[in-house]
Amino acid sequence: MKFIDSSIHQGQRAILCNALKDKGLAGPVVLNAMNKIPRHWFLESGFHQHAYQDKAFPIAADQTISHPSTVAWQSELLEVEPGMKVLEIGTGSGYQAAVLCELGVKLFTIERQKELFDFSKGMLDTLGYRAEMKYGDGFKGMPVFAPFDRIIVTCGAPYVPKALLGQLVPGGIMIIPVGEGSQKMVRIKKKADGTFVQKVLGDAAFVPMLKDRE
Ligand code: SAH
Repeated sequence: MKFIDSSIHQGQRAILCNALKDKGLAGPVVLNAMNKIPRHWFLESGFHQHAYQDKAFPIAADQTISHPSTVAWQSELLEVEPGMKVLEIGTGSGYQAAVLCELGVKLFTIERQKELFDFSKGMLDTLGYRAEMKYGDGFKGMPVFAPFDRIIVTCGAPYVPKALLGQLVPGGIMIIPVGEGSQKMVRIKKKADGTFVQKVLGDAAFVPMLKDRE
């Protein structure tokens, strides 16, 4: 695939980011990062002309790239600062990962579909983003690199995985869609004493987080 970011794509992207700003889902830091990343490169060529609509699209292995509004919202909710260690569960296309890298975090990300792991790895390398990428089961997190300042789950979790709670630093934040079928977006803060405070922030609709099965 040729990586061309035409003025048409750039214009459509700016319009999308403005629309996301009007929706109040994210502030200028997140939206500027999103405005720098050619979302169409993360999609099959047949979807390129639609890449800057606020829509989810199919990617490999029957998965989907999240809506731009969801990416904006989750990125904002995560309250990241440059240099933070962030763990993402569900690399998928690599688009959300690219947005987090553009925000200057040290990213760790896990994907359980080999096809998507290979694709997103190639894409992040091509874009020059450095992330620690793992092909495996997100329910387990990445104990070797823990703890993390932030954890973002980009698939619908049937429950909050215990291992992930354990891999959050005191003062850390996890943003996770929880529920079977549809989900609630939940923010979990880990307090200095190791206890958790949970808040439901709204509705979400992600592909399900799956255990180690094909
Ligand atoms: N962040 C992605 C969203 C992809 S959809 C993007 O920007 O494109 C959710 C992804 O979570 C899918 O790729 C799916 O394969 C992955 N996933 C589902 N269950 C998982 C698990 N247990 N561990 C890691 N990834 C998982």
